[in-house]
Formats: sequence, structure tokens, C-alpha cells
Amino acid sequence: MKMMRPQVRRIAGLRHVMKGKGIGALLVTKQENVHYLTGFTGSAGVVLVAPGGTCLVTDFRYQLQAKRETAGIPVLIQKKDLASALSEAALRRRAGTIWFDESSLTVDGLKKLRKQGLKLKGCADLVGGLRLYKDTGELARIRKAVLRAEESFQELAASIRPGVSERELGLRLECLMRERGASKAAFDTIVASGGNGAMPHAATTDRRIRKGDLVTFDFGAEADGYYSDITRTVCMGRPTLRQRAIHDLVFAAQQAALSMVRPGVSGRAVDQAAREVIEKAGYAKQFGHGTGHGVGLMVHEGPSVSRLSKDNLAEGMVFTIEPGVYLPGWGGVRIEDMVLVTGRGAKVLTTIPRELEYLNSL
Ligand code: ZN
Ligand code: ZN
Repeated sequence: MKMMRPQVRRIAGLRHVMKGKGIGALLVTKQENVHYLTGFTGSAGVVLVAPGGTCLVTDFRYQLQAKRETAGIPVLIQKKDLASALSEAALRRRAGTIWFDESSLTVDGLKKLRKQGLKLKGCADLVGGLRLYKDTGELARIRKAVLRAEESFQELAASIRPGVSERELGLRLECLMRERGASKAAFDTIVASGGNGAMPHAATTDRRIRKGDLVTFDFGAEADGYYSDITRTVCMGRPTLRQRAIHDLVFAAQQAALSMVRPGVSGRAVDQAAREVIEKAGYAKQFGHGTGHGVGLMVHEGPSVSRLSKDNLAEGMVFTIEPGVYLPGWGGVRIEDMVLVTGRGAKVLTTIPRELEYLNSL
């Protein structure tokens, strides 16, 4: 029996959602959504899902790549511009009113399409809704991205010592991930040492690591279009009582959030579990970001695990749990792991040690 391509199943799933909302035709413009639905990885292309069929519209540069990557989905190469190619495709596929993702199509893009006489209406990111639930193929890619990042960090560990700069470590870590096959780092690697650790999204600097520093590494790798996102905070040498206490606190907050994870629980409740631990210790103001975010074709996607989250957890969701405590003038601690929601609770996908004294144990 021939295996059904995941894209066929995804488009069928999208049509089901569209039907439920009374949407006949949908224009998909976000690149990661185009990738998800068709397999096409180029940087320019849109998908039209209409009553008369589905098609990918792209340009000459991607002609060969699109045909190779999207087996079975018709590919139209725009001759003049995207708007006129789309209006032609819409007519042939009896699109009628076309709905578009309001969070993606630009005002300029909308104007150009309306000029072609197309009837357009905005809606939520329906494909993003489907992407919340990872299938087995996606989970395999995410695990591969986690493994690439973890192996790289473990190899880097031997070179984390006083005198090395944050920039050197960041660059080396990115090289190691590329050597393992990642097309790129998932985002600009963060290496924040000493006082720099007080900035959750510190830019990597030329500061050299000193004995006694806490050093936070926030990094991730790519694998077949999917990403990982991990944070570890390690101590250069023996930690002080305070360094240990803050690290223990962040770890306890992370464990509290982890123990909440199961289908049906809200993203807000998981955030609250981590936040309560840190608040009770008197550091409420020193944890100013959300507890986690989904990871997949994007490093930041749904579900949200924060105070403002409207998402409820369900089986197949993958997200981070990353509480932190940041003390200006002193430094910071963050621990970030990726988890998968299963019927039995959280399955932690990351495996490298979380210990503050990880380097001493090498
Ligand atoms: Zn991160
Ligand atoms: Zn993150």
C-alpha cells in the first residue's frame, strides 16, 4: 500500500476546518504554512485552496524546486506578478470569496489583490491551528533538531572555561550544530555570562568568561525545517549559596509547570504553576516573561504558555517550559526544556543535564 503523503492529509484537514467555518476558498500566505501544506521550502509562494482544487503559485526561481518538493500539488509559475497569477488561478478553481490570514497578508498585498477584482475577507490563521498538533513525521524532525543541539552543547562543554569570550562560545556552538547537519541555528545563539545574564535576551558580547560566573546558553538547531530551543545555565566553578538557591528555585518552578502538563489543562495554568513558585520566593518581578511557547516549523509558535494564553493543551503539542529569574547587577538563571503533551502528561524531549555544576562533572 502506498503511504499517504502528510501534505495530502493536512490539506484534507484544512478543508474540513474551512467547511466548518463556511469558508469555500482560502489563500495561505505565511511561508511556514505553505511549507506545512505542500512541502515547498522556497521563500516566495502562496497556496490557494479552493472548491476547484489546490495550487501553489510561485515564480521562475523556484520552478524546479517547487515541482520536486510538492509532488501531486499543481504548481503555477507567475508570468507577470503574483496578484494576476492568483486571480487567474482563482477563476479557474471557482474560488468566489477568498479568505486570507489577517496576521500575514500585508495591506499592500491586499490592495494589489483587490485591484485584480478578487473578493477577499480576513480570518484567523487556520493552518497555524492545525500546526499545533504534531504528527509522527514532525515529531521525528523535532527530536532530530533537539539531538543536534544537545550533542553540540555537550561537545562545546569542554571549551567552556575562564578566558573564552561569549562570542567565541556562541560561534563554536553554531558551528557544531551546522556540522551535525543543521542548515542553520534556530535563532541567534545567546551566551550571557555574569551580569549579562540579567537580560533574558542578551546579545552575545566579547565579554570573557570569569571564574565564578553563571553562564546562560540559549540555543537551538534546525532539522528538516523544524527547530529546537533549549536553555542551560552553568556555573564556572563552585557555585555560591545564592547562585545555587536561585538555580534551585528556577528548577523547582520548571518542575511545578511540568507536573501540570496534560491534555485539557490551559496554557495559563501551566504558566501560573511556575510563576507561583517564583512569586512565593519573593522574585515575582524578576520573572517578567511567559513560561513557554510552541516550537515546530517556527521557533515561536502556538500554543502559548503565558498569563495571556487562550490555548488549552492537547496531545501532540510541543512547547518549551522556560522560567527564569533575572537580577540586575548579579546575573540570571533560566532553564528551558521542550516537552510533548501525551495522554499521560508531559514527555520531556530534552535530555542533557540541568545541573548548575554540569561543567564540574565532566
Ligand atoms: Zn530559548
Ligand atoms: Zn524559548
